Amino acid sequence: MTFQELNIITPILKAIEQEGYQVPSPIQEQAIPVLLEGKDVLASAQTGTGKTAAFAIPIIQALYHQGQRLSSKRLIQALILAPTRELAEQIKESFRNYSREMSIKTEVIYGGVSQRNQEIALKKGLDVLIATPGRLIDLMNQGLLTLSDVRFLVLDEADRMLDMGFIHDVKRIVKLVPEERQTMLFSATLPKEIMKLANELLKNPVRIEVTPPEAMVDKIKQSLYYVSKKDKTNLLIDLLVNPKLESVLVFTRTKHGANKLVKELLSYGVKADAIHGNKSQNKRQQALTDFKAKKLRVLVATDIAARGIDIDELSHVINYDLPETPETYVHRMGRTGRAGLSGEAFSFCCQDEKNLLSAIIKHIKMDIPVVENKFFNEKIKTGNVEKQGLKSCDIKPNTGIKKNGISNQKKNNSFDPKRIQNNKKSDYRKSEFVKNTRSSDGQYRNKKNSK
Ligand code: ADP
Ligand code: MG
Repeated sequence: MTFQELNIITPILKAIEQEGYQVPSPIQEQAIPVLLEGKDVLASAQTGTGKTAAFAIPIIQALYHQGQRLSSKRLIQALILAPTRELAEQIKESFRNYSREMSIKTEVIYGGVSQRNQEIALKKGLDVLIATPGRLIDLMNQGLLTLSDVRFLVLDEADRMLDMGFIHDVKRIVKLVPEERQTMLFSATLPKEIMKLANELLKNPVRIEVTPPEAMVDKIKQSLYYVSKKDKTNLLIDLLVNPKLESVLVFTRTKHGANKLVKELLSYGVKADAIHGNKSQNKRQQALTDFKAKKLRVLVATDIAARGIDIDELSHVINYDLPETPETYVHRMGRTGRAGLSGEAFSFCCQDEKNLLSAIIKHIKMDIPVVENKFFNEKIKTGNVEKQGLKSCDIKPNTGIKKNGISNQKKNNSFDPKRIQNNKKSDYRKSEFVKNTRSSDGQYRNKKNSK
């Protein structure tokens, strides 16, 4: 199947060619024809499957076809609701990219930044508006925009909007959009509440489902490390000695945890930054841009902040903390291995997290191979089986690397394991740790997790 065969008009074909898309992804193949017919759609597909283009292309095409009606005063004809600012930004970029050959104006509004520029953009007029629910309601309440001309409504990442407590706002917004419209709901998962919402908002929707996310997980190489809570950072540094970990997204449970970890990583000369809800929009955007440009090697994120973020060529995902729900594990895995790339994911599990681990394994219906690390192994009881580290390991697990003696690494902001190794000032455990790590490839033994 090609994009031409989907009856996509030339200016869009040109634009997606520039994006480097060769063939439509499965969700695009299924959704685009249905949407071009003007039908409502309820679609579920994992992150990274190309959902944005699946709804953006038909909308852009419809707006193009009515050409002249894009009158002197532009009216908001398409509204896309998204849960996070980052995601809203990305959707805006996609719309602008796919419509670059034509005169369609796309703007984005979200909270956490001054509304001034958004106000100006709204006054100038636009065709496509991407918005997070809160700020949209804010601006509507101030009489700065109306939704009475909207004919295309998209709810993107609907399950996440639900999780984030936006459902009430979403319903309020939808009430202000004319009944005469085409509605599309995209979601990674379809829990009961989403189905209920879909019933309320969609008219005879065509239901589209691409490979359930769980089936994608086995395309990603997963490894599990049993490690005590206090050794997680050490294990991470240990893993980062491997240059193959080029572009690493690390998940922590809390914002505080993310900040703390970034500090530690920086102290080792690993270029890292964090994104989470407590950071200003500018700081988050900057971190993301730097990470994409490979100026940062490690991006530490909480789940909400990382949701839907699209990073090409992400080499590794690390679950520094295991997620609270197994579905989130699947979403995190979806951050790597995007658009056909194969990815790799490491998960750290400490004693407190063994129940989370069991739930994940049950959910993905597969074992995660356990990797034994000479220094940071933790005896952890899962079910009846006791997993433990290398039997031959007679070196005490490292009890945490102190930061003394490494200040000279802070100066140069690049991570050179050799430097750590040669750093005479390092305390014994530290240099020993790095040296052994570097020569320990053969000691990382994969053992099937026997559940
Ligand atoms: P989702 O919304 O499902 O998470 P995105 O729309 O963000 O996925 O797309 C994920 C990545 O795949 C983006 O980098 C996008 O540019 C790319 N992509 C989308 N469609 C195609 C395609 N047909 N061929 C190649 N890459 C694509
Ligand atoms: Mg998306």
